[in-house]
Amino acid sequence: MKRVGLTILLFCAYFGASAQRLPVAWEELTSGDFAKAVSESGGVCIIPMGVMEKHGQHLPLGTDLYTARDISLKAAQKEYAIVFPAYFAGQIFEAKQQPGTVAYSADLIYKLLDETCREISRNGIKKIILMNSHGGNNNFLLYFCQPQLESARDYAVYLYRPEVDPQIQKSIAALRKSTTGGHADEVESSIMMYIRPDLVKIERAGDESGADLDRLKLTNAYASIWWYGKYPNHYAGDARGANPMLGEIAQTQKIEQLVEVIKQVKADKSAIELQNRFFKEALSPVK
Ligand SMILES: [Zn+2]
Repeated sequence: MKRVGLTILLFCAYFGASAQRLPVAWEELTSGDFAKAVSESGGVCIIPMGVMEKHGQHLPLGTDLYTARDISLKAAQKEYAIVFPAYFAGQIFEAKQQPGTVAYSADLIYKLLDETCREISRNGIKKIILMNSHGGNNNFLLYFCQPQLESARDYAVYLYRPEVDPQIQKSIAALRKSTTGGHADEVESSIMMYIRPDLVKIERAGDESGADLDRLKLTNAYASIWWYGKYPNHYAGDARGANPMLGEIAQTQKIEQLVEVIKQVKADKSAIELQNRFFKEALSPVK
């Protein structure tokens, strides 16, 4: 009897607590709960960003979407924020020659992200964190942030840019078997083995080469074909030694870094205040 009583108590405590807790995923909230979530999040929303692109022969096309979403959801559960649905309209022209890539035009990806931010703001969220897992988005997102000063707006966009922690890097290096990497490599494959092992076909990791072919000989200069010049298979590194322990270390670090970013963004009062002052001054600089 005692045991039954305890079970009922635990059951009530669990469901009581989970009933009070708001989901972090935007699409899981009811319309009524959305307003509560906006207030509880301090008006902070994370857009988890990736693309649909080949990841060697062994990882799914949506790898970056899974990793970005995992980091965002877990961080938001620790420090409450609303997480936008997995966002796949990113920059990925460099993999257009590979099956399964979805590469929208340059002006559309800019406009879609801009309108997404405006829609998030219209729903009462004034602080937007871009959380990106796709290397091909790095330059695009830095550029996207610059025209945020083009015209007045009532929200601020923050880009999550995690720094390398030398201690964590040491632990990762100690577990790694390969020395090269960059895409669908040992670390990225390890992360997928940790978060979605059911989607990893590691026995196929050696089916094609992820070696750097270095076919474009340029120094002190950049050309858009550089990646294809190096990695025509859209695979950089050697994932055969991937293991979930390595993935857990790498992923946990990113989650903790994002938790800190959410806290900072929640506390930040300067960005929007400075933006407002800037837009006012920019209306008539001569005054
Ligand atoms: Zn990736």
